[in-house]
Amino acid sequence: MNELIQSAKELEQDLIRDRRHLHQNPELSFVEHETAAYIRERLTAMDIPFRALADTGTVAHIGSGDRCVALRADIDALPIHEESGVEFASRRDGVMHACGHDAHTAMLLAAARMLKDRESSLGGVVKLIFQPGEEKLPGGASIMIREGALLDPVPEVIFGQHVYPDAPAGQLGFVPGAMMAAADELYWTIHGRGGHAAQPHQTVDPIVIAANLINQLQSIVSRTLNPFDSGVLSVTSIHAGHANNVIPDAVEMLGTLRSLNLEWRESAINKIEQFSRTLAEAAGGSCDVRVVRGYPPLFNNDEATAFARGAALNLVEKSHVFDFEPKMWGEDFAYYAQAIPACFWMLGVRAHDRDSAPGLHNSHFVIEESALHRGAAMMSAAAIQRLRS
Ligand SMILES: [Zn+2]
Ligand SMILES: [Zn+2]
Repeated sequence: MNELIQSAKELEQDLIRDRRHLHQNPELSFVEHETAAYIRERLTAMDIPFRALADTGTVAHIGSGDRCVALRADIDALPIHEESGVEFASRRDGVMHACGHDAHTAMLLAAARMLKDRESSLGGVVKLIFQPGEEKLPGGASIMIREGALLDPVPEVIFGQHVYPDAPAGQLGFVPGAMMAAADELYWTIHGRGGHAAQPHQTVDPIVIAANLINQLQSIVSRTLNPFDSGVLSVTSIHAGHANNVIPDAVEMLGTLRSLNLEWRESAINKIEQFSRTLAEAAGGSCDVRVVRGYPPLFNNDEATAFARGAALNLVEKSHVFDFEPKMWGEDFAYYAQAIPACFWMLGVRAHDRDSAPGLHNSHFVIEESALHRGAAMMSAAAIQRLRS
């Protein structure tokens, strides 16, 4: 067995204890005070110096020298009521680690232990980034970077990982280039003029405007995006009215725009605003459109990804390394990847006796914990091999 897998296996009990503690005590984005205190306590016990950033974020350093590699874990939970049925379920009503950030944090703490034990032979600095607020705009990554997480020293590369319930436990998935999308939030209010449903000629019906608009919006992706590129525009919520015989004054809609191409993203946002206003005005109404720009698309650096994949192949059987199919999800690791070469990989956490598992952000989401020591070994392997290369 690989030496790092062996060490990680020896730390498995601590790792799972950390993960379960965090799982039972989840905290929402940007208020992860107890989580931050727990991380800092663990780092102190390991004699690893750290500094606080972005209030609940923590940056720690192991080793010394000119070269530096960064490892990142996110620490926040989601506003979901847990229904997983695990014995260590959330103690906080309506808050759940349903995206596995508890596991990311616990794996980085285990990697910290392994790296600290090898500190004298690292040949450089490993920077550990425990980042708050991944699930909420503007994204903790952007704040951590603004407050200097990537300075002093500047890492030559950053690695991050995410648990992935669609792959069997312990498998590692990689993809160079585009991995996740820019995710923008869309808000519409369509104003008409309400009235008696039997006298539509005396009203401006915002529901008919909304129906037309939803159809028109489909043509933005289908007619303005290069077919070899990717984009999604989904209207995800529509609210109006309360009676059979009343035409309401207004319709509220929510949606999301996902894209990989930044130029197309801007043109699509322009078109969404234009279409919405023009169409509403042509029907005698009006439309307020608000676009909240989310995280940029996540691009993995080709060289960093080839390197991480190579480290994985040194660590686990070849059949446990897979090609990850890019998703139009959003992930604020993208901010690090914009700043320095980066690779974000996926760690399978689906139990071996199951063909499918509840997805991320699902109240039934569970993690096969036997995968976690591999994630910890992979984090330390990527850093150690990089500093030796
Ligand atoms: Zn998430
Ligand atoms: Zn996540």
